[in-house]
Amino acid sequence: MQLSIDLTGREVLVTGSDHAARQAVRRYETAGAVVYRLSTPAGAAQDGPLPERPFLVAAVDDGQPGWESLLERCRATGIPVAAEPAAGPVGHVTLVGGGPGTTDLLTVAAVKALRDADVVFFDRLAPCQDLPDLTSAELVDVGKKPGHHKVGQADIEKLMVESALAGNNVVRLKGGDPYVFGRGGEEVASCVAAGVPVRVISGVTSAISVPAAAGIPVTHREVSHMFTVVSGHAPLTEKEHTHLAGLGGTIVVLMGIGTLHQLAAGLRKAGMRPDMPMAVVERGYRPGQRTTIADLGTITSAAAGCSNPAVLVIGEVVRVAEANRGHAEAAADLDRLAASLLGS
Ligand code: SAH
Repeated sequence: MQLSIDLTGREVLVTGSDHAARQAVRRYETAGAVVYRLSTPAGAAQDGPLPERPFLVAAVDDGQPGWESLLERCRATGIPVAAEPAAGPVGHVTLVGGGPGTTDLLTVAAVKALRDADVVFFDRLAPCQDLPDLTSAELVDVGKKPGHHKVGQADIEKLMVESALAGNNVVRLKGGDPYVFGRGGEEVASCVAAGVPVRVISGVTSAISVPAAAGIPVTHREVSHMFTVVSGHAPLTEKEHTHLAGLGGTIVVLMGIGTLHQLAAGLRKAGMRPDMPMAVVERGYRPGQRTTIADLGTITSAAAGCSNPAVLVIGEVVRVAEANRGHAEAAADLDRLAASLLGS
């Protein structure tokens, strides 16, 4: 069970060794509590004076013997004791998939990793607006814009590794899933090379979720039984266009706005029908989300005003969305009709 309590100005005693308790201390300080520290059960002199009766005791399990009797005394006198996880003994890196940009699509594991972080290096496409509510960690924007990297990839890897070697729990928060065009594999390799423990938390990839935000299922029974996710970062070769055109399933393109013209022309040349439905979904789950629907023959002019970030979808599944939208609109019409009949 989780409770939210306003701790502003409340006296909170955080127990546990300095290293193990550092994140709990930061969390309570961020929450506005007046934090007192007890770093050993015997009460070290350097901890200073303690409140007579704290509002709450936050007990960090640091593995030292002797805490239990002290905590028992607190409980016996009616002081609530909250168990707090200890920060790990050595620094490590967690690559976290942040989903397509809304906090709602973070995984539970992502939320936990953010909560336990000392430093978060985040990208522009990660859900970053709500970060201050999710973590008390230091936040470092290493945001990437297409063709304009605020911090270069090699520098990001260096920063992460150095911070972890200094003993921090580092979260590298990335848009979507770290292993889908996210350079996650390279970041893991640089940690491994430096001897830094690293783990990866999968995220909801924009390749599936952004089409879904526009009502487009990437597969649909009897319409498409496969989908291929392609990077449009650089133009595809003629051979790749031919393979893609021959597959017959859904094609999803990330980073495809800059090469849309070449893609459409290449697929046409490879024999794909000009009336193949196509959609461009911009800014999925974000303010200003917009869907442009056209077909292979008309998309270049239809999407002339489209910009990144956007996901392109090519295939008959685009029509499923249109049909479903028709149903949704019909349902809304029925609701309106029912409401007006009931009202009259
Ligand atoms: N690892 C990410 C993809 C990184 S490549 C993932 O799994 O989603 C960056 C590309 O992802 C963008 O150019 C765009 O094509 C797509 N993208 C990510 N978030 C998006 C969003 N909210 N709306 C539309 N496209 C998005």
